[in-house]
Amino acid sequence: MFKRKRERYVDMLILGVGGVSGAGTAFAACMATNLKSVVGIEQYAEPGLVNSHWANNSQTVHTGDDPHYTEEKAEETHAASLPLFQYAKTKNNPLLAQTIRKMTIAVGTEECAVLREQSKWMAKKFGIRLIERDEIARLEPNVIKERDEKEEICAIVTDDGLMVNFQELARMLLADAKAARPDLELQFNTSAGKATYDAARGCYRVATKHEIFYAKSLVVTCGAGSLSYAHHLGLGREYVIGPVKGDYCAIPDVVTGKVYEAQTKGIPFSGGHVDPNIVGGRCRFGPLTKFSLFLEWFKWKTVPGLMRMWMRHPIRGPLALYKIFQEDKMRAYAKEQFLFGLPVVGMEHVAEKLRKIIPSIRTEDIVRLSNAGGTRPQLVNILLGILEMGNKVFAAFCARIVSTPSPGASVSMATGRDVVSQIIGEMGFPYYFDHHAFESAVSGSMIKPRAPWEHSFGTL
Ligand SMILES: Cc1cc2nc3c(=O)[nH]c(=O)nc-3n(C[C@H](O)[C@H](O)[C@H](O)COP(=O)(O)OP(=O)(O)OC[C@H]3O[C@@H](n4cnc5c(N)ncnc54)[C@H](O)[C@@H]3O)c2cc1C
Repeated sequence: MFKRKRERYVDMLILGVGGVSGAGTAFAACMATNLKSVVGIEQYAEPGLVNSHWANNSQTVHTGDDPHYTEEKAEETHAASLPLFQYAKTKNNPLLAQTIRKMTIAVGTEECAVLREQSKWMAKKFGIRLIERDEIARLEPNVIKERDEKEEICAIVTDDGLMVNFQELARMLLADAKAARPDLELQFNTSAGKATYDAARGCYRVATKHEIFYAKSLVVTCGAGSLSYAHHLGLGREYVIGPVKGDYCAIPDVVTGKVYEAQTKGIPFSGGHVDPNIVGGRCRFGPLTKFSLFLEWFKWKTVPGLMRMWMRHPIRGPLALYKIFQEDKMRAYAKEQFLFGLPVVGMEHVAEKLRKIIPSIRTEDIVRLSNAGGTRPQLVNILLGILEMGNKVFAAFCARIVSTPSPGASVSMATGRDVVSQIIGEMGFPYYFDHHAFESAVSGSMIKPRAPWEHSFGTL
């Protein structure tokens, strides 16, 4: 028989609470506000199964010291990565985060000239060092082994890089939020329907299989699914998503830190890099990118939504793509990535690319990881015909819709803090956001010790 859904009123509803952005939002809401009821909805059974999964991203905390950033972007990213840095330091747990050397190499006269120039302002801001062939050989011998002696090479390096298991981060943030506020309600295995604004009630309405939520405030952190929520609420209509899948390859243990190749400015996808895997096993090389029809890899249910998004713009959409691929560097990038994906010969192209970092690598040493790599929700601005870099937060009254390409995980705790504090400001008295309480929670002083059973997600 037809069963009526239970109707509920809540102060804050977080959709996609299982990813790092949603977990960061729940953490901020529980640690620093007096919201009475906070509910998080997650479609899967556990935190961090999509882009925040350890296998699906590059496990790097971007702190602004990436040479393809502008100075302004670097400063913004640096500030936004600080809460995560502080939290990881406090936890002091190698399963969550490890300090790692981060090196970006430039090969050839042209790249070296650009990197040397960039290193000047980066040294001042981030304390990175410019190093030459001898020191590169000392730190990462395989970067120099079998390299042509006449080839110019230099690098920038920092010893204070951080690699993070973002899946573990999502777990820990939720566990800490739950420990501080046992009334935080986390519903796993629950898919959220679309969100609408119910003007009569002055609330956001979201239905799940069994319940209808009326929420005073709404945060959507559904990764690649977020933009559809923005569209339903009348926001961000000038954007569509161009999903870009990032693939990884397993390679022998050839490096001890992260080694990036210099990245082309204006290409919003991170350059190829080689690094140890935080969960152990062999080193990885990637990401190799390919345009995809899936918002979540091989989840067919995500395809119709993506199609509808593009079909709403039958002229502007293709025109935007045409404009984007008018640029030589974008065409060259797309061609290179296409070659990587070809059967048989593709691996030879991958090896050639990887030899720029590790010249002695052999094609047979490289294994494509079929189950690794997330899908970047790349925002395409169809009015301007450009790809937009970085996080984007769409704002409506008491609602924030967060779209998170890289470095979304690095800034997830700052994103949570910012969206919650902004929403609280809009909700007004009697709600407050206590910045001091947030800082204390990040540095561990407010987090209650957890009993062993609280580590299990069955209890949440
Ligand atoms: C190849 C690659 C490499 C990357 N490398 C880095 C890196 O090194 N450093 C970095 O900072 N960032 C990196 N990123 C970006 C980073 O992975 C993401 O920004 C981050 O994981 C996004 O977290 P999220 O919580 O927003 O999204 P996700 O982790 O994707 O979480 C979204 C959650 O929403 C849930 N959800 C979706 N729809 C619904 C619904 N209808 N109902 C309920 N739940 C729903 C999903 O199940 C999921 O748990 C990389 C991304 C890619 C693709």
